[in-house]
Amino acid sequence: MPASMNRRQFLYTGAIAAAGALAGCAINPVTGQQQLMLMSPQQEVEVDRQNAPHQFSADYGKTDDIALQTYVNSVGKDMAKRTHRPDMPYNFNVVNATYVNAYAFPGGSIAATRGIMLTLQNEAELGALMGHEMGHVNARHTSSRMSKALVLQGLAAGLAIGVSASEYKSLTPLAAGLGAIGAGALLAHYSREDERQADELGMEYMVKTGYSPQGMVGLQQHLVDMHDRTPSALEVLFSSHPMSEERRDTAKYEAQTTYASASGLPLKRERYMDNTAKLRTLKPAIDEMQTGEKFMSKKQYADAEVHFRKALKLAPDDYVGLLLMSKCQLAQGNKREGERYAELAKISKPGEAQALHVAGLAKLQMGRYDAALSQFTQYERALPGNPNTIYYEAMALDGMGQRDQAARQYSRYLRSGNRDANAQRAYNRLQSWGYVK
Ligand SMILES: [Zn+2]
Repeated sequence: MPASMNRRQFLYTGAIAAAGALAGCAINPVTGQQQLMLMSPQQEVEVDRQNAPHQFSADYGKTDDIALQTYVNSVGKDMAKRTHRPDMPYNFNVVNATYVNAYAFPGGSIAATRGIMLTLQNEAELGALMGHEMGHVNARHTSSRMSKALVLQGLAAGLAIGVSASEYKSLTPLAAGLGAIGAGALLAHYSREDERQADELGMEYMVKTGYSPQGMVGLQQHLVDMHDRTPSALEVLFSSHPMSEERRDTAKYEAQTTYASASGLPLKRERYMDNTAKLRTLKPAIDEMQTGEKFMSKKQYADAEVHFRKALKLAPDDYVGLLLMSKCQLAQGNKREGERYAELAKISKPGEAQALHVAGLAKLQMGRYDAALSQFTQYERALPGNPNTIYYEAMALDGMGQRDQAARQYSRYLRSGNRDANAQRAYNRLQSWGYVK
């Protein structure tokens, strides 16, 4: 997703510029060795603070199931004390997305989707998942990845200066904006070595906390099973967490050797089942959403709609179900229905940003520019720092005939560093109005 890559690089670069001097070589807290780190721990926290809220919103926000959220946070916090970086500002969250995934930002913001929470079968497996994600934070994988990326970006920046307007590609339809910040787009992609290390650290942390190492075996086995059953369903997870069978076998081996003496530790299945009981009542609806999303990703919108309808029959007020249906309607050109479902999503989870974005796009497509502008303004207030919002504000102002204000937003968008089709359109508008010679 190139547009999001640009956005991510922009945000990271911005965070680093704002935080001042580069950090240079640092001691890796896990290995104790010197390593090229262009981000200081303060910058890791800053990058986390700027990016995590956008990913949480793309994943439909944190759960309203406060008991579940509290449970997951307390399991994570208890383990965090046993890590190599116990003082990081960890927070552990359940986000509403239905696909199977979990991830960590470099300052310690960690999230698991409802999809993966329904897959896990005991607290030791949850501990393994949280331990793995904390492993990435502790070994500073994002920091070292971003450091390498920034070095490369520094080289690429010299080339970018020569880029002219003619290199911009053709326009894409407005609907493309629906997926502008997609799942996983803001997250680091780890190497196989990073994944192995995160598994190793995860197992260490979970056993130290008192969970059976079988939790890690169980987690890895779920991923193998799901991959065998529906390979396409797990593309996002496996692009950031690959090589499931090798990892499962390693977990088995470690459980039998290094951690053999910990085999009597508990799995805490009952405690996990009690705390996820409410979530599990939604499983049939979430299954339908997952199936619908698979059709959406294949652009089979009519098939997707059938499953979203079933999901909404089972869980009529589900924010994700409503928003998925809204996007599905808009993708099929049903603007009025798309808008209606986006408005229902806004009611079901007031203040959550993504529904405002989708409602704004629906109104924009219907030519209701001032109503659209109001949605985008509210979005920016709820979740500042998304360049796409600036672009759509510009479009709404453009539609309203407010040329000066539209021009200001179009140039803000170009300054955000995006080089996508929207940037081309923004540039063309500015040129045709004489703002760019
Ligand atoms: Zn990982």
